[in-house]
Amino acid sequence: MSSDNKTFASEEYNPQSRFDNLDHFEPEFWKKKKLEEMSKEEWELLCDGCGKCCLNKIEIKGKIKFTNTRCRFLDCKNCLCRIYEHRFEKVPDCRDIDLAAIREKPHWLPKTCAYWLLDNGYDLPIWHPLITGRAESVHEAKMSLQGRETVSETGIEDYENYVIDWQDL
Ligand code: SF4
Ligand code: SF4
Repeated sequence: MSSDNKTFASEEYNPQSRFDNLDHFEPEFWKKKKLEEMSKEEWELLCDGCGKCCLNKIEIKGKIKFTNTRCRFLDCKNCLCRIYEHRFEKVPDCRDIDLAAIREKPHWLPKTCAYWLLDNGYDLPIWHPLITGRAESVHEAKMSLQGRETVSETGIEDYENYVIDWQDL
């Protein structure tokens, strides 16, 4: 995301660390500011860590279809990017989640993505870590890729055979 919020890699990285100092932020800042008014830190807090934007997608008849193939660098257990700091060098089609990406047509972010929800006038869902104060709540609500049947993209060419229709995409 010019800062990217998809996932926050590395073996040592503790996802909860993002939400440990919420007292430093204006309460419910996401209700008071537009996305374009948010600081980098506020912007990064919006990502719920679901990992769903790291699924491969294909366009069929002008609509984006998700597949259950995942970027080879996504850790499917914790939904974190293994190469977060170098993702744009190593994966040319890894997308920065900025305003242009959020508003792009056809729409390609999952419908639960906090950026898309806020930009379209919705509130954050009750399981969002900013509401619960806990990074794990996205997984507990079964809104992330954790525990889902996904396969690494390595070696896959026929993506159309992997199209899925999950309700939260
Ligand atoms: S879909 Fe949105 S909320 Fe989920 S990991 Fe990607 S940027 Fe973050
Ligand atoms: S490199 Fe892959 S796993 Fe990492 S953020 Fe980009 S799409 Fe997701």
